[in-house]
Order: sequence, then C-alpha cells, then structure tokens
Amino acid sequence: QLSDNTILITGGAGFIGSNFIVYFLTKYPNIRVVNLDKLTYAGDVNNLSELSNNPNYTFIEGDICDATLVSKLFHKHEIKGVINFAAESHVDNSINSPGQFIKTNIEGTFTLLEAARNYWKGENYRFHHISTDEVYGSLGENGFFTEGSKYQPNSPYSASKASSDFLVRSYHHTYGMNVVTSNCSNNYGPKQHDEKLIPTIIKSAIKGLKIPIYGNGKNVRDWLFVEDHCKGIDLIYFNGVAGETYLLGGNNEYDNLTIAEKICEFIDLKVPKSNGGYRDQIKFVEDRLGHDFRYAIDASKIKKELGWSALESFHTGLDKTVDWYLKKYQSI
Ligand code: NAD
Repeated sequence: QLSDNTILITGGAGFIGSNFIVYFLTKYPNIRVVNLDKLTYAGDVNNLSELSNNPNYTFIEGDICDATLVSKLFHKHEIKGVINFAAESHVDNSINSPGQFIKTNIEGTFTLLEAARNYWKGENYRFHHISTDEVYGSLGENGFFTEGSKYQPNSPYSASKASSDFLVRSYHHTYGMNVVTSNCSNNYGPKQHDEKLIPTIIKSAIKGLKIPIYGNGKNVRDWLFVEDHCKGIDLIYFNGVAGETYLLGGNNEYDNLTIAEKICEFIDLKVPKSNGGYRDQIKFVEDRLGHDFRYAIDASKIKKELGWSALESFHTGLDKTVDWYLKKYQSI
C-alpha cells in the first residue's frame, strides 16, 4: 500500500517541498516521510517547524548526489516511494554559475533513480519527479504548453531540469520503473526564498527599497498557489499512470509589472504609506539574459484524468501570500 509506508522526499526544506510535507503528513497519518535535504542557501529547517513533534517525520541533512547515503536511506527506512523536489531552482543563479545545476538537477536525479532501481524489486513503489514548465521553452502571445509540447529549454536551469525529466522517462521505458513526472508553472505562497519575484517585491516594498522588475516588465508567467500544487502532486503520486507526465497550471497569467502593481495595491491597503503608493518604488532593471517571454499551461489532461484543477483564486492566494511575507519582513 503506497499510503501506508515510508517515502523519501528530497529538497523538503525548500519552498514547495516543505509546504508539501506538512500537507501530506497532515492528510496521511500512516505515511512516514524521510526528508533528505542538503540545506543549501535555499533550504530552511524552520519551514518544517510544525513537524518538530511528529513521529512520522525524519530529517536527514545530505546530498542527493551522495550515492552511498541515498542507498543507505532506502535500506534503513525501507523506502517505497520517492518525490524528488531537490534542485537548484533559481534561473538567475544558473546563468551566473551553472555547474551546481548540472550536478544537483541531473546527477542528483540519476543517483536517486539508481538507488531506486537497485532497491525496488517488483514491489508496489513509485518515483515522482517534480519539474517545471520551463523545459518547454518560451511561448509567444498565444498558445499553451501541453504534455505533448516539444522540449526546448533555454536556460541552464531549464536544460538541467529537462535532462532530469529525460532520465526519469528512460528509467520507465528501459527498466519498467514506476515513474511519474509533473511539470508546473510558477508557484507562489508562503515559505518561498527571498530571491524569487513575489517575495522580492514584498520585501523591497516594505523596506522602502527599489522594487526591481526585469526589462520592460512584459514577461508573462502563470501563477499556481503552492497548496493547489501540493494537492495535484498528491493525486499524481497515488493515481497517475506510470510513465506519464502531468502539467499543472493556475490559469493566472500575468506579466511581471502587473504582479508588482497588484502586490503594491495590497500593501497600500494593509500598511498605508504616508506619501504616495508603493508602486512608486517600481524600477525597471537590465533584463535577464535569454529571458523567456511567456509560459502558460493547458492543464486539461490532469483535470480530465485525475479531477484536479487549481482552486485558489489569484486574489485570495495573493492576499494570503502578502500577509505571510509582511509578517516575516516586518519582524526583521
Ligand atoms: P527551492 O530552491 O525553494 O528548494 C530546493 C530545496 O532543495 C532546498 O531545500 C535545497 O536545500 C534542496 N537541495 C538543493 N540541492 C540539493 C542537493 N544536492 N541535495 C539535497 N537537497 C538539495 O525550490 P522550490 O521552489 O521548492 O522547487 C522545488 C522543485 O520544484 C524543484 O525541482 C523545481 O525545479 C520545481 N519547480 C519549482 C517551481 C517554483 O515556482 N518554485 C516551479 C516549477 C517547478
């Protein structure tokens, strides 16, 4: 039974992984989670403070590229499932310094696949790989990515994620491993690292700093509330068809300037400024190299096959998100 055993979650101290572990352990009292996380600059054990007394939760500080450690964890904890969130995830870092992206995102995924291949022998198991819509490259003004879209990664980050997706796919095709892959759009919500767009906007606004927006602010992203993503992963992990890919999106397409303006409007209401509005702090900065213009997802496959769609409206999701970061940034 997949719902009554121990699962290895990697990168669970990061943004999506930590939201997922809390959601998952709350929902499934018979599942035990081993969280393997290297605690890079992006990982924070405080993201999991709710679980400090949860007997079903074990934290292991370590690297997914460490084959000896990973194999030891499979044997010691009798791992029956893997959800691989661990990654170097920030596109800007991949432009400045791509090496670690190749190591963690490609070699790390390979190490996990090998450990699973060696340990799992014809049992009821599952390997779920978490990936991004960025593997499909950039869209123009129209159209959507689907599971059939061509892989055309444009940044070292998306190329490394694309490579890992291919490795996962090959372990199904070659070894018959029970894998699923999900590719999603930009997530937003609590516990995201300060470096990402939405936390940066809120932090800069409230600290009275310039709110930096790349280029002309016209690059479009689709935004998915992290809790909706967690629900989708849950469904795919248990019910997805082996070897399949599922795309998840929030149906919230906005350009970066609009996102910044919306957030400023929220903060104007919550923490009014004495003179002017927060949008006066928005400043355009030199564009990201190779900046993809637009990502958007057609999530009809997962809706039809697994009954998932994003439920949180962008307004309420952003409202909760702004509240969470205001609390964080006003206390530091
Ligand atoms: P994050 O950067 O917040 O967290 C990544 C976590 O992985 C951190 O806790 C970090 O310490 C850990 N980690 C990094 N290298 C490791 C290694 N070698 N061994 C073990 N742990 C390591 O990332 P996130 O935003 O939570 O993203 C999680 C996954 O979702 C990633 O695979 C990412 O590609 C994918 N994804 C994210 C988004 C998004 O909007 N955040 C969108 C689509 C896909």
